[in-house]
Amino acid sequence: MFTGIFVTLGVVVFFQILARMLISHSGSFARPLNYLSGRLATFSVIYFSVLAIYFEIVVARYTHDLNFVDFRLLLLFYVTIYLNKRSSVTIILVSSLMRIYLWGFSSGTLLFFLFTWGLYTLILGLTSISRKLELRRIYLIGLLDVFVGGMWLLFAELKLPYFGTISTSKALYNWFSFVVMNAVLEFGITHLNAEDNYLTLLSQKATTDPLTKLSNYLAFKEEFASQYAKFYNLKTPLTMVAIDIDYFKRVNDDYGHLAGNVILKAIAKIILTETAKVPEAKAYRVGGEEFNILLPNMDLKQAGIFSHRIQDRVRYRIFTVNDEDLRITLSMGVAQLQTSDISANLFYERADQMLYHSKGQGRNQISLEPQQDKNS
Ligand code: GH3
Ligand code: MG
Ligand code: MG
Repeated sequence: MFTGIFVTLGVVVFFQILARMLISHSGSFARPLNYLSGRLATFSVIYFSVLAIYFEIVVARYTHDLNFVDFRLLLLFYVTIYLNKRSSVTIILVSSLMRIYLWGFSSGTLLFFLFTWGLYTLILGLTSISRKLELRRIYLIGLLDVFVGGMWLLFAELKLPYFGTISTSKALYNWFSFVVMNAVLEFGITHLNAEDNYLTLLSQKATTDPLTKLSNYLAFKEEFASQYAKFYNLKTPLTMVAIDIDYFKRVNDDYGHLAGNVILKAIAKIILTETAKVPEAKAYRVGGEEFNILLPNMDLKQAGIFSHRIQDRVRYRIFTVNDEDLRITLSMGVAQLQTSDISANLFYERADQMLYHSKGQGRNQISLEPQQDKNS
């Protein structure tokens, strides 16, 4: 039984390690591991199918190894509870096909099918009921324990050929070891998930600006580097808008720092709302009253139109602080990544220069860099 505990825990820990490796390579950090969709769903299907095939091969070799019944039941339960329906059906289908391949169509195989798919349907039903009733998962796990206990006793009574003949005390022992493994597995998974959620929370905090809730400079740097690499490998166009609030120091001086914060938040919200309308675009607060927006797959002209929408929404908005009406304007600089940019910084500096050009021209302006390198 102790071997069983460590094997089940090992399977789950190894699964999580591989899943994390897969996610950290995709650049999408600050999100909890989601096994229900995307590449983690595919990975789950492959991982647990391999495990199911392994169990079938081992069982075909040592027909009466009852411990493997416990393992296979756990596998069946957990893929049904934690993965989506398509993934769990695929895994069970793989295991069924393996069963046919190894045993042919015998009465044992028929029994295996009835048993596996019957149990699967039952757990699926129980899982969806417990989700609807918002029951804690521990009740579902407990119910499965009771069910498996009944099942073992039934097998001890019926003496089905596939399971061989087992004594009542052996059946009780198998039940006991199932309950223990189930509890340890549930504990392990809960613990790993809590840790994963904590990491996600930390990562979110590290990359989010608490005042405006926009992504911060750290997040910008990561995305900027990754977009720059993408441009070189895949030629994905990239435009950047650099924004600085005009005369913001005066707002603080005249109305106080807290009023300044309220205005910063309001402007960030406008920037966020407009950016959210553009697929793939993302806005960052990169300094006190400075923002950058990355616009993949957009050229200078489109980025200019986009920038004007933000500029207009801010300059025509009347901000009210301490019962006084206040108008704010933005200065912006827009640059497009060129093949001649041998470093990401060159591109960054061009956007910055355009921003300072806008400031120099009297503020409340948008400066697009002159078009160059047209055939790239
Ligand atoms: P301009 O950009 O038009 O040249 O003038 P400015 O007054 O906006 O420029 P400057 O860079 O001198 O001042 C930026 C001000 O933004 C200084 C600082 O007090 C203010 N600021 C930066 N971060 C915050 C913040 O989080 N909250 C508030 N209230 N003010 C901030
Ligand atoms: Mg500034
Ligand atoms: Mg400013």
